[in-house]
Amino acid sequence: MANPYQRTSFLTSVPNAKLAPADTGAEVAFAGRSNAGKSSALNAITQQRSLARISKSPGRTRALNFFRVTDNRRLVDLPGYGYARVSQQLKQEWQKHLTKYLETRHSLQGLILLMDIRHPLTDYDQQMLQWCQHAGLPTHILLTKCDKLKRGPGNAALMKVRKSLRGMHHDASIQLFSALNLTGVEEAREILDKWLEL
Ligand code: GDP
Repeated sequence: MANPYQRTSFLTSVPNAKLAPADTGAEVAFAGRSNAGKSSALNAITQQRSLARISKSPGRTRALNFFRVTDNRRLVDLPGYGYARVSQQLKQEWQKHLTKYLETRHSLQGLILLMDIRHPLTDYDQQMLQWCQHAGLPTHILLTKCDKLKRGPGNAALMKVRKSLRGMHHDASIQLFSALNLTGVEEAREILDKWLEL
């Protein structure tokens, strides 16, 4: 079967949700601490070599970057502000924009949260999970770079995060993912298919 994400193209970059494209159709947002493997995952899912490089170009790392899948379906790359060396004031500005987007965007169907399997549930991740819970937004976690661990430790890491989520009363779903050997790429696409009704 052809991959419907293969034709994904860059749509626009905006500094805040107010300037986002029309809030119609359906979109899925991707969030992750800087270096979690978000660009690699977006490229693997869409089978494009450098789609998400756009999000990393100067001036766009703090933006919401929109990609068009079909006319009325979008993927959104959210800024990984949690890690950036910026002033507290600027961080608070971003947080305000992000929470506003998560809470008010009608077309937003769900959030994919990426966490490095070796360093899951950082402060950033916990903050994102809380916001999603607060906004009642379905959340799916990719434990990225799972090729870095052998199967046993990989599954153990998965179980451990699942247990922590239960402790937080969070109903996010979760899977292993590797952009390197493509573990879990199809599983992640199935989640997107469901949310975007593709
Ligand atoms: P981003 O900052 O979240 O967009 O992260 P990138 O996609 O740029 O990846 C950060 C680093 O992790 C880069 O050096 C990637 O080559 C590496 N990386 C990303 N995904 C994988 C993966 O699945 N396996 C391995 N081994 N390395 C990965």
